[in-house]
Amino acid sequence: MRSRQIIIASRPKGMPGPDNFVFEDYELPQLNEGELLLQSMFISVDPYMRGRMNDAKSYVPPFELGKPLAGGVVAKVIESKSDNFKTGELVTGFLPWQEKMIVPEKHVQKIDATIAPPSYYLGILGMPGLTAYFGLIHIGKPKAGETLVVSGAAGAVGVVVGQIGKIMGCRVVGIAGSDEKVQLLKSKFGFDEAINYKTTTDLKAAIKAACPNGVDIYFDNVGGEISDAVIRNINFHARIPLCGQIALYNTTELPVGPRIQPWLLTKSVLLQGFIIGNFQSQFPEGIKQLSEWVKEGKLTFVETIEHGFDKLPEALIGLFKGENIGKMVVEV
Ligand code: NDP
Repeated sequence: MRSRQIIIASRPKGMPGPDNFVFEDYELPQLNEGELLLQSMFISVDPYMRGRMNDAKSYVPPFELGKPLAGGVVAKVIESKSDNFKTGELVTGFLPWQEKMIVPEKHVQKIDATIAPPSYYLGILGMPGLTAYFGLIHIGKPKAGETLVVSGAAGAVGVVVGQIGKIMGCRVVGIAGSDEKVQLLKSKFGFDEAINYKTTTDLKAAIKAACPNGVDIYFDNVGGEISDAVIRNINFHARIPLCGQIALYNTTELPVGPRIQPWLLTKSVLLQGFIIGNFQSQFPEGIKQLSEWVKEGKLTFVETIEHGFDKLPEALIGLFKGENIGKMVVEV
C-alpha cells in the first residue's frame, strides 16, 4: 500500500517557505503483531515546530533532513493487529506527517469523541490546553480580583489561559494582532479588555489604561516588544509564566531589547519559563479538569481548520503571520 508524507528538505533561514518541504510517495511496510494501520484525520501545526526545523539543540531534537516532520495527530484505526484497538477507533499521538502510517500500539492513546470533537484533542484537550492550564495555575497562581494579561491571546493557548483566568475571578486583558481577534476575545471568550498590538501606537500606555490596577500575572506567549511593554506595567509580587517567544522564532539575529531585570528586581517579580513536558505526570489531572470545564460550558474553543494534507506547510507558516484564530489544524 502506498501513501504520502511530507519531509523537511532544507532548513529555513528566517521565515520558512514552501521550498523547505517536499511531498513524497512512500510504500507502507507490512503490518506486524502489536501494530496499527492508521489514517490521519487531523494534523496539528504548532509554533514550536519552527525551532525543530533549525539544526540546534533544544528540549526536543531537530527534525532530521529527508525525514517526515512530526507532531500531534488524530487518526482512525483502519486495520489492527492489537487486542487493545479495534478498527474504526480514534486515537491520538505524536506521529509523522503521513496520510496513512503503521505505528506500534504504544505510540497512541484512544480518544473519547463523546466529550468533544476529535480535533479538540490537538487543542483544548491536548498540548495547548494543558500548557494553558499548568502554566497559569501552577506558575501564574491566579487569585480572584487580580489582573491577568495574556499575549498571543487569540491563539490556541491564549484563549484557554484567558478563560481559565475568568473562571479564577481575574480581570483578563488579551493582546492580539487584529481587530477581529480583539472583538472575539471580548464577545466569545469573556476577556474584559483586548488590545490590537499592530494598530496601537503606545502599547505601554494602552496596557496601563486596560489594567488600572497594574498587572499581577503576565502569561507570555510572544516575547519581544509586546512583553517589554507589559513588564513596564508589572505589579509588586507579580508572576510571569514564560510560555513562548514566537516574536523571535524567525529572527536571524536576536535583537537586544530593553533590559527587564530592573523591573523584576524592584517589583519582586517571579518569572518562570516552562515546557509542558515538565508537567507530564500531572496530565491526567489537567485533562480531567479541562474536560469538566468543557462539559459544563465554562470553557469554549475555536479552531482554524485548513482542508487537505497539501495545506500542512502553509498552515504551519500561517502561524507566524497570525492567520489562525484559536488552534490551527489541518483536516487531512
Ligand atoms: P497560536 O495558536 O497562538 O499561533 C501563533 C500566534 O502567534 C499567531 O496567530 C499570531 O497571532 C501570534 N504571532 C505570530 N507571530 C508573532 C509576532 N512576531 N509577535 C507577536 N505575535 C505573533 O500558537 P499557540 O497558542 O500554540 O502557542 C502560543 C505560544 O506558546 C507560542 O510561542 C508557542 O511556542 C508557545 N507554547 C509553549 C509551550 C510550552 O510548553 N512552553 C507549549 C505550547 C505552546 P497575532 O495575530 O495575535 O499576532
